[in-house]
Amino acid sequence: MKQGESNFKSFSQIIGQEKAIGILRQVMERDRIPHAYLFVGIPGIGKRTTAMAFARFVNCKGRVDGDGCGRCVPCRQIMGGNFPDLEQIEPDGQVIKIEQIRELNRVFEYKRVSGRYRVCIIQQAEKMTEEAANAFLKTLEEPAPGNIIILGVTEPLDLLPTIVSRCQQISFRPLPSDMVATWLMENKALDPEKASVLARISEGSLGRALEMAEDDYFERRQDDIFKINSLQNQSPVKALETVLEFVQRDRKGSGGDDSTTGVAQVLTTWKTWYRDLLLLKVEGPEDLLFNVDFSQRLKNTARNLSIESLIKSILLLDQAQRDILRARNRELVMENAVLTIKEEGHGQGNTNQ
Ligand SMILES: [Zn+2]
Repeated sequence: MKQGESNFKSFSQIIGQEKAIGILRQVMERDRIPHAYLFVGIPGIGKRTTAMAFARFVNCKGRVDGDGCGRCVPCRQIMGGNFPDLEQIEPDGQVIKIEQIRELNRVFEYKRVSGRYRVCIIQQAEKMTEEAANAFLKTLEEPAPGNIIILGVTEPLDLLPTIVSRCQQISFRPLPSDMVATWLMENKALDPEKASVLARISEGSLGRALEMAEDDYFERRQDDIFKINSLQNQSPVKALETVLEFVQRDRKGSGGDDSTTGVAQVLTTWKTWYRDLLLLKVEGPEDLLFNVDFSQRLKNTARNLSIESLIKSILLLDQAQRDILRARNRELVMENAVLTIKEEGHGQGNTNQ
């Protein structure tokens, strides 16, 4: 197998994004391709994978059943990761820098090497610095024919409106959790309980679920749950030490999209934990629990907390997640979250049971 080939997926192999793919296929039938697309959706649901399949689709010399043939030269180059007219940009560290956009603009000044279309994929476009975004606008304003730019973004509101308005938006939906769970059981041999926990916690992101399935996610999650339950009994100093631990775990992580490690993951785990507590508190159906494997502990904890304080904690964690996504200072965001949650639980009795 050639390098990169194992990661490539054709349209028909991508699950849960039939609607987005349907729109992309139609464009080719009309032979009038927008020069810029905005692929919108949470990380890990197939935006980049679909962009790659689309690059193959538009460059294929003999499309079969609304998909690239997989046999012609451009198809094989794209699948093998050595197609000369494919540009990919992703954050260099925490941001997409102006140098990266300038380099892209230089590439656009040249003719295509061999492809019918040059395809440029920019992942996490919201991470462009202001300078980079402004430089990029020029590219979008005067597009050379034969170029297709695909921007991947979680939330279009985080982009310049002038960028958004120049792109055709395509929405990528989170997958239903039973679809993710079934996939994990069939392809990763996960037991049903673990598959169900991952499917729900990943909120319909197969990519995220997969990453979690492949590392020591369950151990870390257990630790994170233990920590939030012990906050009430800790001194503020100890609570802040916990924050530092999380932030340091982040620094050790891969950088870039760290939605499955570090601080972002702690927040996700905690939010699902509080959602579960609220669900039990209002006597909602237990089959909607995220953390099904901790249902007894959840029940014990829920008794000691009020609906009001649970809602407050959920909103707080929600805000913290958004702040982290927008690259605010992680340590400050986490300190605020931890201390406020600690305060909310105060006087509600010992919840660490
Ligand atoms: Zn082909």
